[in-house]
Amino acid sequence: MSYTHLLHRRPIRASICAYFVLFALIFVSLSVSAAQPLPSEVDFQQWLLKFKPKAVSAGVSQKTVDLAFSQIHLNQKILELDRRQPEFSQTFWGYFNRAVTPWRIKRGQHLYLQHRKLLDQVTHKYGVPGRFLVAFWGLETNYGGYTGNINTIEALATLSFDRRRSQFFQKELIAALKILDRGDVDFKQMKGSWAGAIGQSQFMPSNVLHYAVDGDGDGKIDLWHSLPDIFYSMGHFLNKLGWHKEENWGQEVKLPQGFDLTLANGKSKRLLSAWTQLGIKLADGRRLPKANIQAALLLPSDYRGPFFLVYPNFYIIKRWNNSNNYALAVGHLADRIIGRPPLSVQRPADDKALSKQQMKAIQTHLLQRGYPIGQADGIAGSKTRAAIRNYQKQHQLPADGQPTLHLLNHMQQQTQKGIAK
Ligand code: CA
Repeated sequence: MSYTHLLHRRPIRASICAYFVLFALIFVSLSVSAAQPLPSEVDFQQWLLKFKPKAVSAGVSQKTVDLAFSQIHLNQKILELDRRQPEFSQTFWGYFNRAVTPWRIKRGQHLYLQHRKLLDQVTHKYGVPGRFLVAFWGLETNYGGYTGNINTIEALATLSFDRRRSQFFQKELIAALKILDRGDVDFKQMKGSWAGAIGQSQFMPSNVLHYAVDGDGDGKIDLWHSLPDIFYSMGHFLNKLGWHKEENWGQEVKLPQGFDLTLANGKSKRLLSAWTQLGIKLADGRRLPKANIQAALLLPSDYRGPFFLVYPNFYIIKRWNNSNNYALAVGHLADRIIGRPPLSVQRPADDKALSKQQMKAIQTHLLQRGYPIGQADGIAGSKTRAAIRNYQKQHQLPADGQPTLHLLNHMQQQTQKGIAK
């Protein structure tokens, strides 16, 4: 029941008593929701009963629904994982160095050579170079080393039952049931991540339905064990997302002295020739390729680098997983797999994740100085970053827009000096 609804129905001359009751109601409701226990197994089983006919009318067989739903329970651990709020934001370096490790590079190089023939066949058919297929494979499941151990139907039913993103997960649950219906995998074998991604490529079930293909021609699609099925499916998926055949994903670059860092926003696109005119070169000092490619300049860390020009395929990688850091890790791992050099800069010793409290402190300083960033929510969105750039410009700091401990220290010192702006 909505309380605004209650308010609107109440006459304007409502007695103080009526308002008291209303506020008491709201208060009770708030304290209940704050201390609300996680939903119960009984509620979950009732929800499953209601969901069954929905799945059947969406085209899943009654037999599959009955069989699958009789074996699952509400998984509280998944609900906890889904509600987890990270205490610290992650830096680019923190993520990147865990994603592109020396072991993963070496292993990727080895597997790339080992499966070269198969990878070339996939490239020939779908236009996606093998180094990218191996890089996705490495990042998603450590080259098939860990595909997840949670029953997919239980995971998706738990997340569908939970109200937070129910619509999305119901669609995935129906897709997963359809995969069972197809008979490529049985209920007990269908295991994956707690969020429902399956197989060595960690496809969501709807992507399995739409894009997975039978690469080895045995009549089944097995994304857990058949490398031809896995690589062909990944190639097909990237091809359908719009992969640009002849193009790379992006390149690390160097900026000239005094370059306007506000251009490094990862969004504004220019031709490579235009970036060349602005003085940008490849990280090793060579000139940019003469290809007719639209590129954006991306600064994932701070003014000390690295910097990247990213090409249309970078955004295709992001459609697999919508994160700049993920896409940079895939692109760089793909480069390393074919022997290209490491990044030209390394993680600085002072690179540290900010806690939510520290992020809020930066935002509070910005608000106190009159920057219109809304409220201090502990999340560095575009308004906060724009305000940081302005603050940096005012104080002759490199305007990279990055919230860092250096920045927080600088702001605290300014406040101590009693300088308002
Ligand atoms: Ca197969």
